[in-house]
Amino acid sequence: MFLSELGSGWHDARIKPDIVHLDSASAGRSSNAVIEAISGQLWEESKRGSYAAMAAAEEDLAHGSRELAGLIGHQPDELVYRDTGRAALRALLGVANLPMSSTIWVARNEFGPNLVEFERRGYAVHTLPQVDVYGHVDTDALENMLQFEQPEFIHVCQIGSASGVVQPVAEIVRVAHAADVPVVVDMAQSVGHVPTVTGADVVYGTSRKWLTGPRGVGFAAVRPDSRLHVDIADMAAGASSGFIAGRLGLGVAVAELVGMDPAGVFDELAAIGRAMRERLTGIAGWEVLEPVDEPSALITLAPPPGFEAADVDAVAVHLREAGLLVTAGGAERAPLMLTNSVLRLSPHLDATREDLDRLAAELRTTGC
Ligand SMILES: *Cc1c(COP(=O)(O)O)cnc(C)c1O
Repeated sequence: MFLSELGSGWHDARIKPDIVHLDSASAGRSSNAVIEAISGQLWEESKRGSYAAMAAAEEDLAHGSRELAGLIGHQPDELVYRDTGRAALRALLGVANLPMSSTIWVARNEFGPNLVEFERRGYAVHTLPQVDVYGHVDTDALENMLQFEQPEFIHVCQIGSASGVVQPVAEIVRVAHAADVPVVVDMAQSVGHVPTVTGADVVYGTSRKWLTGPRGVGFAAVRPDSRLHVDIADMAAGASSGFIAGRLGLGVAVAELVGMDPAGVFDELAAIGRAMRERLTGIAGWEVLEPVDEPSALITLAPPPGFEAADVDAVAVHLREAGLLVTAGGAERAPLMLTNSVLRLSPHLDATREDLDRLAAELRTTGC
């Protein structure tokens, strides 16, 4: 039985999977319509020539951009496409061209590879204070800090890669803007998953995770009044030689989400996350790392005492062999927060009660 009333429609829009797919945070399952949009465009490219096919798809591309822009609170002409989320961040840092001495403030759940991008450019990175053990940003403390010091920008993963914690981005933006500090939001794990209209100066994300678009498409958007000065045309340079069929597929995926009513989808995903955390609390020494009612469907479990990274990897392999697709996330995904690997579960709308029972039963055989 589907946990969500949206589950059967979402499930029926896709081919039947071979596994119980609990890995949307790596890559969500695309619908048949998304796959058809992509393959249809690839056939057109071969028939007419790639650029002619792109011109013929102009209206569909524009429609997709409007839907995506609406979802993240931007205008279509504020959007640029890159190949991945990371490429979008690199393009941003490339055109922002900050001085070497720049300081960036990040939250506890910052994505490790983003830190690598900051560090390789010589930026100093400071971690924002947290208001609880889960790593939510303490916005009161932030407001105070900003009276004494201002970073070049604040960078927040609305949701990180190895934690289902949802950062209070709108509130962070409010206090940062009061101090005239720009906010950049990594939406790779949040777009299509939780509300993403935040008022941030710059946002970026990826197609393939919760939006269930194809791999190979990332995007960024910059507000016209962004406090971080970036030339959007510069950031877009070369995008027309990118994966146009993928952009069309992403547009279809976003239109499907919008057609279901995003607010309802986000509520259902939060309810699935809660049901899963409730079900998995207290199993064989595994520890749920988010508050049970954190409004996301990304669930992380810390291993029982004595488990090392290789043991967590082995459990993920065991679960896969039992037909349950999950990720073993290394501490390097969230190095400011984790010292050991975690098991990451990221169901989408078609999660069922039986999936939960199977997962719980398998986990029970692995712990202590
Ligand atoms: C996946 C992810 C990214 C990078 O997205 P890609 O499209 O893989 O480059 C960035 N930040 C977070 C939090 C992610 O989970």
